[in-house]
Amino acid sequence: MRIEHVESGFFKTNTYLVCDEHSNQALLIDPGGDWRKIRAMIQKAQAKVAAIVLTHAHYDHANRVQEAKTLTGAPLLVHRGDAPRLQKLSALMLAARWRPYLAPPPDRLLDEGDVIEIGALRFEVIHTPGHSPGGICLRYKKTIFTGDTLFAGSIGRTDLKGGSWPALKASIEDKLFILSDDIHLYPGHGPKTTIERERKYNIFVKLSPAQMDEIMFGIKAKEKKDEEIS
Ligand SMILES: [Zn+2]
Ligand SMILES: [Zn+2]
Repeated sequence: MRIEHVESGFFKTNTYLVCDEHSNQALLIDPGGDWRKIRAMIQKAQAKVAAIVLTHAHYDHANRVQEAKTLTGAPLLVHRGDAPRLQKLSALMLAARWRPYLAPPPDRLLDEGDVIEIGALRFEVIHTPGHSPGGICLRYKKTIFTGDTLFAGSIGRTDLKGGSWPALKASIEDKLFILSDDIHLYPGHGPKTTIERERKYNIFVKLSPAQMDEIMFGIKAKEKKDEEIS
């Protein structure tokens, strides 16, 4: 297995291309950001993209799916919990006056425990809701692509639509932190990390729902105060 990667776009999204060197097939994960960079990575790898998968359907991970599908002809896979959001992407982008964009419908809906086969590689779908209802992590042996569920030293936001801190905390603690220390994590933003490092040092995961509420409430209260002043 060979992992290619580009970080691009306003939100510095990580797009990964995971290649099976025997069959020369590849899995494209989260084509969001700068299409020229993503295309260059795909073309340079000289592998056949056999599937495009979204860790979740937020704009910054999904806004190049149309280009990726046109270039590769590969099917688009997303967890069923985020499929409605993908369909709303076109309308959202028009409403925000970004650019006219037609998000293609998913070709396959994913569920917990599903397997995505790319040549000899078998990626297991781990449903990790909390950042979004249909957020997933993808595991192949000692490698996990975590999307916006877990970052090096941080976690995905839970204050966006469909987000929930109790759900995200449970996803991380019950589905990721039960796995072995030496698993490498490739997040949707920022550098890679390991299960061991995050279990030991990630302070966000340790927050109780009440503590997280307090932090969020504190920020919102401060914002309100700033508004009153300005
Ligand atoms: Zn996200
Ligand atoms: Zn993101």
